[in-house]
Amino acid sequence: MDQYAVVGNPISHSKSPLIHAFFAKQCAQELAYSKLESPLNEFSEFVKGFFFGNGPYSQLSTRGLGKGLNVTVPFKEEAWSLCSHLSKDAKLAGAVNTLYLNARNEICGENTDGIGLVRDLKNQALSLEAKKILIIGAGGAVRGVLAPILKELPKKVVVTNRTLSKADVLVSIFSDLGNVTSTGLSQLNESFDIVINGTSASLGGELPNLPSTIFAPSTVVYDMMYAKQLTVFNAWAKAQGASAVYDGLGMLVEQAAEAFYIWRGVRPKTEEVIQLLREA
Ligand code: NDP
Repeated sequence: MDQYAVVGNPISHSKSPLIHAFFAKQCAQELAYSKLESPLNEFSEFVKGFFFGNGPYSQLSTRGLGKGLNVTVPFKEEAWSLCSHLSKDAKLAGAVNTLYLNARNEICGENTDGIGLVRDLKNQALSLEAKKILIIGAGGAVRGVLAPILKELPKKVVVTNRTLSKADVLVSIFSDLGNVTSTGLSQLNESFDIVINGTSASLGGELPNLPSTIFAPSTVVYDMMYAKQLTVFNAWAKAQGASAVYDGLGMLVEQAAEAFYIWRGVRPKTEEVIQLLREA
């Protein structure tokens, strides 16, 4: 049976095996999908062991049957540098979350996070075209979503971050793809149609230091983080009058669906699994 896995450190919390088992059943695909914890300083050997069945991690898969890996924190950048082939968006993203082998057995990488975010926004009947979009954060996740967002032809994208210089770097990388600028958190003085929180602040129960002027009564908010309850950011946005708030669970499932499509050539339906995880 073809073998797939998600690799990270730590990894026990990952929902990916559940999601991919659901997709495999739905699409009648025979495959095994597990979660693997790579030692922090042996990621390269780990990946090669999985795909090629050699080296100290040769037992990770049956030789020739290791077909694909999802990559999560903290290895997405390292995975990027292992790839012999990257798509244009993955090259710009500087990080990949999906690995597979091409016909010549070379490692290829894709970043499906941005596609996942854009699809989830569309699932909520939200178009990005001609919209004013604020993106908060300038870490790996934001870098991964900027190209797919700019492809949707928004009116403008403003990237703001606690460390402004990191937002400036992103603007210099992506400005060829559309109208994207950077601003410090406290310099923001206008409202946006869509506000996307791509910081990890919510993980620690914190809020970026933002003015409430970013919200108009029609502003829609998307926190890439997901949680059982309303995330700290979404609770705050609601209290400031945002018209609707969404968390990143749908993005998680949509990025997995895109990885599944890359590996298997079949696109799973996501609605049911999003619902299932929401209720779990
Ligand atoms: P990184 O560590 O690469 O970046 C973290 C970002 O958050 C930086 O911009 C950092 O600012 C900012 N930040 C952290 N704490 C605070 C704070 N207290 N106040 C203001 N800003 C803060 O993380 P990632 O980019 O990989 O992940 C970001 C979020 O996206 C996480 O919550 C992650 O769970 C989520 N995510 C969700 C996915 C999904 O499928 N739903 C997929 C990928 C990520 P600074 O530069 O100043 O340090």
